[in-house]
Amino acid sequence: MQKAKKILKEIFGYDSFRPLQQEIIESIVNKKDCLVVMPTGGGKSLCYQIPALMFDGLTIVISPLISLMKDQVEQLRQLGVETALLNSSLSQKDYNLNFANVKSGKAKLLYLAPESLQKEDISNLLKSIKVDCITVDEAHCISEWGHDFRKDYRQLGNFKKSFSSAVCIGLTATATPRVQDDIIKNLNLNHPKKFIASFNRPNLFLQVIPKREPFQQTIDFLNEHKNQSGIIYCFSRKQVDSLHNNLSELGYSTKPYHAGLSDEERNKNQELFIKDEVQIIIATIAFGMGINKSNVRFVLHYDLPKNLESYYQEIGRSGRDGVRSDCLLLFSYADISKINYFIDQKEDERERLSAKVHLEAMIKYAETEICRRQPLINYFGELYKTDKCGMCDNCLAEEDESDKMDVTIYTQKFLSTLKRTGEVFGLNYIIDVLLGNDTDRILSNNHHNLSVFGVGKELTKKQWQILSHQLIRKEIVIRDNDYGSLKLSPLASDVLFNNKKVFGLIKEQESKKRKLKSIALEYDPKLFELLRVKRKQIADKKNIPPFVIFADSSLIQMATDFPQTENELLKISGVGVKKLESYGSTFLSIIKNYVKNNDVKLKTDKRTIRIQKPLLDEPRHRVVAKSYNGGSSINELAVEYNVQEQTIINHLARFTNEGNKIRIDGLLERVMVDKSKQTKVFDEFDENGTVSLKPIFEKFNSEISYDELSVLRVIYLNNQKK
Ligand code: ADP
Ligand code: ZN
Repeated sequence: MQKAKKILKEIFGYDSFRPLQQEIIESIVNKKDCLVVMPTGGGKSLCYQIPALMFDGLTIVISPLISLMKDQVEQLRQLGVETALLNSSLSQKDYNLNFANVKSGKAKLLYLAPESLQKEDISNLLKSIKVDCITVDEAHCISEWGHDFRKDYRQLGNFKKSFSSAVCIGLTATATPRVQDDIIKNLNLNHPKKFIASFNRPNLFLQVIPKREPFQQTIDFLNEHKNQSGIIYCFSRKQVDSLHNNLSELGYSTKPYHAGLSDEERNKNQELFIKDEVQIIIATIAFGMGINKSNVRFVLHYDLPKNLESYYQEIGRSGRDGVRSDCLLLFSYADISKINYFIDQKEDERERLSAKVHLEAMIKYAETEICRRQPLINYFGELYKTDKCGMCDNCLAEEDESDKMDVTIYTQKFLSTLKRTGEVFGLNYIIDVLLGNDTDRILSNNHHNLSVFGVGKELTKKQWQILSHQLIRKEIVIRDNDYGSLKLSPLASDVLFNNKKVFGLIKEQESKKRKLKSIALEYDPKLFELLRVKRKQIADKKNIPPFVIFADSSLIQMATDFPQTENELLKISGVGVKKLESYGSTFLSIIKNYVKNNDVKLKTDKRTIRIQKPLLDEPRHRVVAKSYNGGSSINELAVEYNVQEQTIINHLARFTNEGNKIRIDGLLERVMVDKSKQTKVFDEFDENGTVSLKPIFEKFNSEISYDELSVLRVIYLNNQKK
């Protein structure tokens, strides 16, 4: 493995392996077949590329998409790795050149589409040389149960048999056990080791907001992401076209992508996007399969996706380089009805039912009040143990209780109205009753004679809407997603009859945009911009995509660490010897000039290391916690990372929650309440878990501050560990 590590650093420019990569490489090098299931962006390619460089013979990579292959081959060539591809898109001259490189043994890797295996020249070529490894990318295409079955994949099992000394690897991002079994069976994998990586993508920032003025909300979002690459997903072609027209009229750099366009136009638009000529692709779900652009910085869902699988796949197209990427979903109840309408058109009852179940899970995710990663990751069959990821809107919502008020009375009025009208009406009807509007429908139902008629005049229609959404999120009210009617949940009776208090927000402007704690920028955006422009110039000259030259993550790290020498540049993740040779002096001179002209103070070594780590390999909370255990105080760390102390404490909580111990003395000094109260708080944790502090805060009538409660939570979690 020493050799693998060396290749990782020297060729790829990375300091450490991502989870499972090392184990997978070991297994391949030892010629043990394996099945690798890893989410998009998890780093599957490296798993076979490093062994390919260690084997004497050839590594064949089967991949279904020619466009994807081209980028991969280009990326490897930029790293100085001899790579061949053989397919119909090549000119005769290029084809011959690639062919010769495989024959002579110069090429270490050969990329092929499955249909090429039947071509006689290729099959003869492969029989005449030593093949050490056969890698099947997108291996789920072999399964009829997968979402992307391809007939050409079926012959792979047979193909593989003629290379008895080659190890075979299936790679996929599709997790269902049924598809996994199919891959193993159809590929004839020999007692394969299964490697299943976590589906969590910690660098995606997840956010859901109510869709009110979607166009304006889109513009606001785009303005926060100037000069960045991103995808906007819409439900229909019509929506794609109109959004594209409206945005490009305002000067945004957009292109449409959907099945109604010609192949030629679609390919052109995709190419422009990959090359950073166009910043934003507006697309239906048809977009994204064939791209591995690593610097997609945001995904905006203009409409609600039909299920969590699609949603996860779509947001997964951002942030492959490991840099923070923003995923925003505009959520409305009207979209649910739209999707339901389409589901109802399906002939097959089983299909209808299954589609509804999937939609329900999607809605649950959108409405959740807890960390969004919990419903999301759990949905894929993996237990997500951390209670606060720190990278979703719910985790970062300012727990500023001053805005929240006791809304118990309003809630009771709302619930009574639901009950008195029979729990069969939608929101607008209920609000009309509350406001005392004598509409025809209300008169014909005789509801103007109910005691609740007109009891809610102290709030506006909008405020009632805001309140009702919160009640749905809190699961006090249940919305029937088929009919839109509202019902009471079992929790409602506590509010109606046991006077259980409800806290919420009903200020109109507050709910429009939730306040989120800001995440501090750690790099110099001006320098990043200069580097980005240079990268684009070089890419254009060479006619390759910019991210192939350097990933965004590398540029960001340069704009954080300001490397001054070749040696320092080599320390940047993604800079190996070949890239240093090709581009080192160009980028170094930009950085040096920038440092000189802007009087940038270079940081000490110690600090540089601390910053570069969380950005690329180790999650921030672990780095922080280790540093804390090493003696740094909470206050020092807050200053160092330019965040609030509370954030540092949350990092510590997450660290302990993952089963680690931390130093307790620095926490105890922050606890003011007496021992007996502490014990009571711990009892509450015992009983209700540590996910939410709010119930405890309320239980103690706001006597113990959130800050202190969160410290107690860390102490509690720490005590749980043996
Ligand atoms: P996948 O095929 O699983 O979608 P890729 O193989 O394309 O993912 O990898 C995603 C990105 O992560 C690429 O830019 C790759 O260079 C980068 N990467 C892979 N392994 C590492 C590592 N150990 N350290 C840093 N970056 C890595
Ligand atoms: Zn979260």
